Amino acid sequence: MSDTKKTNPKIIIAVDGYSSCGKSTFAKAIAARLGYIFIDTGAMYRAVTLYALEHGAIRSGMVDEEAVVKLLGEISITFRFNPQRGASDIYVNGDLVEGKIRTIEVSNCVSQVSAIPEVRHKLVAMQQEMGRRRGVVMDGRDIGTVVFPDAELKLFMTADPKVRAERRYKELREKGMEVSLEEIERNVRERDKADMSRAVSPLRQAEDAIVLDNSHMTVDEQMTWFLDRFARVTRQHPDR
Ligand code: C5P
Repeated sequence: MSDTKKTNPKIIIAVDGYSSCGKSTFAKAIAARLGYIFIDTGAMYRAVTLYALEHGAIRSGMVDEEAVVKLLGEISITFRFNPQRGASDIYVNGDLVEGKIRTIEVSNCVSQVSAIPEVRHKLVAMQQEMGRRRGVVMDGRDIGTVVFPDAELKLFMTADPKVRAERRYKELREKGMEVSLEEIERNVRERDKADMSRAVSPLRQAEDAIVLDNSHMTVDEQMTWFLDRFARVTRQHPDR
């Protein structure tokens, strides 16, 4: 394995797409396979949202954009590798928040927070710095269009909204969260709509992205599909 990792060319792999279609699971698997760094940019927007919730900038589901922007200067986001999960945990000002950012409360407000230009400006700059040396798999909504428009390999993931809601429902129930399937499906659809219609960096497929509809594919099938694309792309970039 280590030999494969050593010889793998270092490119940027952008994984964009709709909410809850398995982007993070897939991106994490790709990173482990290639010996790349995995960066979950959604976790960063969620971390800012959580901080805003905990510091009074969101009340009863209403996002006070000015208050969020004021808080931005005091938010420092870092990642630390957690060998047990095989991925990095996210910290805000040194506090581990990984377990708190995927609640339905955060999910219901995150699209509004992520549409604030100052929030995007700060997080996009961090993401660009993290990917500067290449050898990263970054998942999000605007990686192939805004963060790394020059990424060598861009995937755009999609799946049937019902399949996506069921997957997210199962994941949250396994974590012991009390949620209903209807609530999850509503959230998935609303986030897609908000993410696609916002003025700054809306979710859209980059022209040079390859679409992966994984409604009926296992992670292993997706990996086989991916490795074939990766081999083709890296042949075109022998310098990387
Ligand atoms: O990927 P995840 O579903 O955790 O992302 C949460 C939310 O963060 C998305 O619904 C979207 O509003 C926002 N996001 C974004 N740009 C990214 C990643 C996530 O706007 N690159």
